[in-house]
Amino acid sequence: PSAMREMIVQVPQVHWADIGGNETVKHKLKQAIEWPLKNPQSFERMGIDPPRGVLMFGPPGCSKTLTAKALATESGLNFISIKGPELFSKYVGDSERAIRRIFAKARSAAPAIVFFDELDALAIERGSGNAVADRVLATLLTEMDGVEQRDDVIVVAATNRPDMIDKAFLRPGRIDRILHVPLPDADTRREIFRIRFRKMPIADDVILEELVEKTVMYSGAEISSVCREAALAALEEDLNANDVTRGHFEIALQLVLPQTTQE
Ligand code: ATP
Repeated sequence: PSAMREMIVQVPQVHWADIGGNETVKHKLKQAIEWPLKNPQSFERMGIDPPRGVLMFGPPGCSKTLTAKALATESGLNFISIKGPELFSKYVGDSERAIRRIFAKARSAAPAIVFFDELDALAIERGSGNAVADRVLATLLTEMDGVEQRDDVIVVAATNRPDMIDKAFLRPGRIDRILHVPLPDADTRREIFRIRFRKMPIADDVILEELVEKTVMYSGAEISSVCREAALAALEEDLNANDVTRGHFEIALQLVLPQTTQE
């Protein structure tokens, strides 16, 4: 019963416009998921099956979750979100049943996306000596194979550790699109700042290009933290502050340092 309560079907309210940059990823997802859902006849005419599942990989905080939600919002899909490690901790001894329930729930909520965040916790390579993990993976694969085209259930998964994912997961008919969601490039960083700035009173002395240059290697989440810390620095100085200045951003950039390493 507790497992069911946790499994909430959401209708997210994240739009493509809320995600800065990452144009390639957005386009590929529209092509893979939106197009076939909205134009099934076109795919039939071409004699190809639309993808069943998508894996996004890349460093933490670079909008994988946000992107999965936007895909649901923009394609009119219900959204069921599961964090890999949750399936082991919350549903101890019951992980396989929880997975079957998730898919049953997705079918009844179709068209729907099942989002597996931190997939590496679930789909870890077999034979690593963990019997429970092996059974969970087997159940996950069986359930994915059981999804029929007409079920309109799409699996979207995310991981920071693509090297840990069992290869069986990535066969055609299971996860057949793999997308890299990298650290934001300059254009993406600029867009993320612009999105944050929409809601913040930014002083005239703030130079966007300077911030873009100073945030090389920052994730999207870290850029959001920089903006938040800058606003807090302004309030720290004066609770009646009306704007966030270049100096506040300088303080924030000292506080928030990028955590992603080169490899
Ligand atoms: P994790 O691997 O840690 O789960 P993730 O890749 O799923 O991370 P999100 O949870 O989507 O990352 O992003 C974290 C937060 O960072 C978002 O809620 C958002 O505030 C901000 N963010 C990251 N990338 C972007 C972006 N491209 N545009 C706007 N905001 C972003």
